[in-house]
Amino acid sequence: MGNRAIWSYRPTRVLVTGGAGFLGSHLCERLVAAGQDVLCVDNFYTGDKGHVAHLMDNPRFEVMRHDVTFPLYVEVDAIYNLACPASPVHYQNAPVQTTKTSVHGAINILGLGKRLGAPVLQASTSEVYGDPEVHPQPETYRGHVNPIGERACYDEGKRCAETLCFDYRREHGMAVKVARIFNTYGPRMHPNDGRVVSNFIVQALRNAPITLYGSGEQTRSFCYVDDLVTGLVRLMETPDASGPVNLGNPGEFTVRELAETVVDLTGSRSPIEYHPLPADDPVRRCPDITRARETLDWAPTVRLRDGLARTIEWFDALLRHLDRDGVGPP
Ligand code: NAD
Ligand code: UDP
Ligand code: UDP
Repeated sequence: MGNRAIWSYRPTRVLVTGGAGFLGSHLCERLVAAGQDVLCVDNFYTGDKGHVAHLMDNPRFEVMRHDVTFPLYVEVDAIYNLACPASPVHYQNAPVQTTKTSVHGAINILGLGKRLGAPVLQASTSEVYGDPEVHPQPETYRGHVNPIGERACYDEGKRCAETLCFDYRREHGMAVKVARIFNTYGPRMHPNDGRVVSNFIVQALRNAPITLYGSGEQTRSFCYVDDLVTGLVRLMETPDASGPVNLGNPGEFTVRELAETVVDLTGSRSPIEYHPLPADDPVRRCPDITRARETLDWAPTVRLRDGLARTIEWFDALLRHLDRDGVGPP
């Protein structure tokens, strides 16, 4: 049974919700490699058992199919709550379920953490800043979110989950950790999830048109998954840190620059094709990571070109595999 005293040591039994997703699977891998017992809980809405298949034979790892909107009774020492679809295409496909996952899910996971005296790390997002009027975004910025738009199920769900974290902390003295994650990319992104890095790489590898939304002058900051996972683990293992803390790469690029870099790295013949900008698409986004540097001694180390090259290699193998098996383009 976990208790607060254990918090001064490294956790040994760790729950990762959303553990079969993109970030979750990398986190599970990292924790197992560090000698921790990992329970991966996932309803496989956007996750894939294949992402953790290589861990299945490890006695330190187990998977449970479960939806976090329902109560969960397990015994662990620390909890990473990552369950939630992250790409606009996926969360807008099931907006009510997305809010339920963020809000009911957070209540259940915080209730679990409260019973166990276990710290809960909540995967929050830069989307809590909405379409920001302050640039770059520090944690003190309160955001500019449309509460009734197409992104609201995700943005407001995540904002409410943060509220719950800090109310459980104030009311029950719980150890909570809130990571505001900025755009992260890498191997195991879903080829169909519509996020910009996966879209551009798949399009470039197929010599298909690169779909640039709007003018392409909007900016994002892209963090390689290994750096992000280091930040999450660092936040969990730093006793005094509760957050919210921005985790992301402060290098800022226009979406057009990203397209050009992907075309360059793949040697693609893809032309650029212009599409309308989706509703409420933030114009600029870049994390101020001063807090993460100071409290976690964390900063990203992987340059965009290097991270993209590794990601392209992974997608190239995936597409070859899909083509060979006759699955066709994703
Ligand atoms: P993902 O979609 O690959 O992973 C989410 C995982 O949660 C999937 O395995 C999915 O099946 C699972 N899930 C969804 N609803 C669930 C439910 N009700 N019960 C149990 N499992 C459920 O997304 P990701 O990129 O790995 O994101 C992981 C977390 O990080 C999310 O909470 C997301 O909001 C947050 N985040 C990610 C990014 C990013 O750039 N990748 C940025 C900001 C925040
Ligand atoms: N919960 C859970 N696992 C536990 C403990 C609680 O899933 O081990 C869920 C349960 O559904 C509960 C919610 O977490 O309703 C919130 O728990 P809390 O103790 O905060 O509130 P209460 O039990 O009073 O509703
Ligand atoms: N985008 C684009 N083409 C695509 C997919 C996305 O130009 O095929 C743009 C999108 O409009 C946004 C940025 O790339 O400005 C990042 O989109 P993504 O969905 O990856 O994440 P967001 O940061 O918007 O949640």
